[in-house]
Amino acid sequence: MPETRLVAFDLDDTLAPSKSPMNPRMSQLLADLLKVVPVCIISGGQFAQFKMQAIDNLPDAGSTNLDRLHLMPTCGTQYFRFENDEWTQIYAENLTDDEKSRALASVEARAKELGLWESETWGDILEDRGSQITFSALGQSAPVPAKQAWDPTGEKKNRLREAVAGDIPDLEVRSGGSTSVDITRKGIDKAYGMKKLAELTGIPLDDMLFIGDRLDENGNDYPVKALGVRCLAVEDWEDTARLVADLIPKLAAAAV
Ligand SMILES: [Mg+2]
Repeated sequence: MPETRLVAFDLDDTLAPSKSPMNPRMSQLLADLLKVVPVCIISGGQFAQFKMQAIDNLPDAGSTNLDRLHLMPTCGTQYFRFENDEWTQIYAENLTDDEKSRALASVEARAKELGLWESETWGDILEDRGSQITFSALGQSAPVPAKQAWDPTGEKKNRLREAVAGDIPDLEVRSGGSTSVDITRKGIDKAYGMKKLAELTGIPLDDMLFIGDRLDENGNDYPVKALGVRCLAVEDWEDTARLVADLIPKLAAAAV
């Protein structure tokens, strides 16, 4: 069996329930795992989500080896490490000004043309997240029931996605959450992030283990499996907790 020198996790529905904080049991297990091996968390979400769901719920820096934790928001187009007692962005591969302005112009024009530019909204419809432009039909902070009612079949989002993709073929246009369309560089997925991680840490992909809840062919963790990284599939954080509890003594024994 190959050596495991780093364990990488998906965030949503792997370490924590979707968009929710990590359970204290999972936090403790993650801290225990960090005593034996470096850990990465990789997700399509933003750093703020990592903070709310995972980082803010970890035991404090004094008792956790935060220096061994690698954070890769937005699939590794951003990279954060714990340096000088704070979470520090090491790099962010942002869209260029030209890419941003073409993306913003297209999504606004197409949404208006298709009758999808709503007047009753909760917060901004368009958001510049640096490495990603996000369109949220009802605004950033729309209540969940309103979001669910807006496009239950996904038909509106798909029409918008297709129209925008035609305007900016050099960029990736994806359906995001229930009301959102995301625009990023092409070819950015978790496999991209894992390759970056191997470069940054000097740990080969063969010596990594990845744990995620969507390793099925349509899932957002699948690109990691397709890359050839050893993967373990879980259903939810409780599944992950069992697996990590089992893994810790094995890795500790291997490290001796
Ligand atoms: Mg997930």
